[in-house]
Amino acid sequence: MKIVMLGAPGAGKGTQAKMIAAKYGIPHVSTGDIFRANIKNGTELGKEAKSYMDKGALVPDELTVRILLDRVAQDDCAKGYVLDGFPRTIPQAEVLDAELTKLNDKIDFAINVDVPDENIVRRMSGRRSCPSCGATYHIVHIPPKQEGVCDKCGAALVQRDDDKEETVKNRLKVYHEQTQPLIDFYEKKGVLQNVDGTVDSEEVFAAIVKILG
Ligand code: ADP
Ligand code: ADP
Ligand code: ZN
Repeated sequence: MKIVMLGAPGAGKGTQAKMIAAKYGIPHVSTGDIFRANIKNGTELGKEAKSYMDKGALVPDELTVRILLDRVAQDDCAKGYVLDGFPRTIPQAEVLDAELTKLNDKIDFAINVDVPDENIVRRMSGRRSCPSCGATYHIVHIPPKQEGVCDKCGAALVQRDDDKEETVKNRLKVYHEQTQPLIDFYEKKGVLQNVDGTVDSEEVFAAIVKILG
């Protein structure tokens, strides 16, 4: 099963993708997580990606596509995966589509997690993540058991550099200009599914499970 998660930054794609990955036993592939791991490890890729991420801009397609295709070519992705944060532009979606077509394969579901802009800034300003295991929390909606501490591994939670209000506004603008057109792209392919992302994360997940079966 090959799944693409669509939705604005902060819509809950990562939260849902992690739950899907756990339930269906497929890897959660997040280009943002791959970039952040590279930044943490001080790689050349990380340095280049960071210069774009800090502005709330997209990392260039060529670089991003290369990273993603490398990742999905690994053995653990053979029976499927859930893509979170990729594709983010029409050219990225076209390359993915062409690569899958070569393998006689396709995306089975594109799940659009729908959350209006008004809710997004609040979601992102309250987001905290675990630098050690990647778990995500929200200080109000999905708080850890102990404030500032990861439930899963005990590490101190951090706020992402790009979750500051000014950067968030730019990311939303970039989303509307470059990523939202993917809703139409996957609609035309007949694989688009919309879910209401404004409800509780367990409710969003229940709606997704209904779709995936
Ligand atoms: P969010 O879902 O909250 O927007 P991500 O972790 O998906 O966060 O992305 C963080 C940043 O990483 C983006 O703002 C962008 O700079 C970069 N990025 C992630 N995925 C892509 C992609 N597919 N294409 C270009 N840039 C990307
Ligand atoms: P994305 O990957 O789309 O950028 P995340 O999954 O990281 O989004 O979620 C953004 C923030 O909103 C996080 O702090 C997360 O804990 C919180 N969140 C996720 N889903 C919900 C929900 N259904 N209701 C309220 N907050 C949520
Ligand atoms: Zn953790």
